[in-house]
Amino acid sequence: METKREFLKKLGLLTVGGMVGGAMAPAAASNAKSNLFAPKKIVGLQLYSLGRELTEDVPNGLKKVVEIGYTNAEAAGYREGKIYNYEVPEFKKVAEDAGLKVTGSHVNPPVRKYTKENMGEIADFWKKAAEDHAKLGVNTLVQPGMPQIENHDDAAIVCEVFNKAGEIAKDAGIKWGYHNHSMEFQRVVKEEDKAKQQNRWMPVGDVIYDLMLNGTDPKLVFFEMDVYWTVMGQNDPIEYFEKYAGRFPVLHIKDRSVLGQSGMMNFETIFKKAYENGLDEYFVELEGIRSGKTQFEGVKECFEYLNNAPFVK
Ligand code: MG
Repeated sequence: METKREFLKKLGLLTVGGMVGGAMAPAAASNAKSNLFAPKKIVGLQLYSLGRELTEDVPNGLKKVVEIGYTNAEAAGYREGKIYNYEVPEFKKVAEDAGLKVTGSHVNPPVRKYTKENMGEIADFWKKAAEDHAKLGVNTLVQPGMPQIENHDDAAIVCEVFNKAGEIAKDAGIKWGYHNHSMEFQRVVKEEDKAKQQNRWMPVGDVIYDLMLNGTDPKLVFFEMDVYWTVMGQNDPIEYFEKYAGRFPVLHIKDRSVLGQSGMMNFETIFKKAYENGLDEYFVELEGIRSGKTQFEGVKECFEYLNNAPFVK
């Protein structure tokens, strides 16, 4: 039978002196151990999931995120040029010290109603946000809040603003995207079409999310689909992956509470189709946990669900 020594030797972990690391290098020993047993899956977390449990002690919180097994994170704490109240380079260091890659960030512009008059102000906002996030080194910058869209004209302006934001971010080397909730699956109806409404099974008008997808340039704007909110909007994520293939390189993997426990979400099919359509990255999101557990306990259960799921690469 293979001894532990032979096993370690085979893995190349045995040093000249004998056992892994040795007394002179305890840190190396613990790294070798954690690399050996580290999960191979790259799983991201939207840090919003942790709420105050993170913000009351960010350095320690980020370390706990890594201990759970998450490798990547999407921030949600950008305010007035700072991230979670840190200057950007400082936050970058805090994350790096924790061993966490912050690959994305959620940011909302200061206004909800877009007009021809305030488009310049919104563009200036994205310019500053893109510069700050380039320093942080993220891949993606994502708007999670829906602007006001009550008709087709609103939708057209929103798409123009999104394209501009995408262009600005692209110049800074970052991809710009939009994250949905369920409101985007409502319809807007042109005046002349309102009379055509026969019954609720044959709706007229256009789904706002489709207007966004069709009205934005795929080279400038991607869509970070929140699969749970898509289902809550009475829509099928799979249909969207097929209809708009390649537009969803990043996902929010979310359920009613802990992943896989509600029975509402078919994550196996979602992952299968998402991979087929070019998934780059995904972030787990957990809003209020419902069972008296802490958010950290909840995000740990979410991680374990994905780490154990054979359909997640
Ligand atoms: Mg989400």
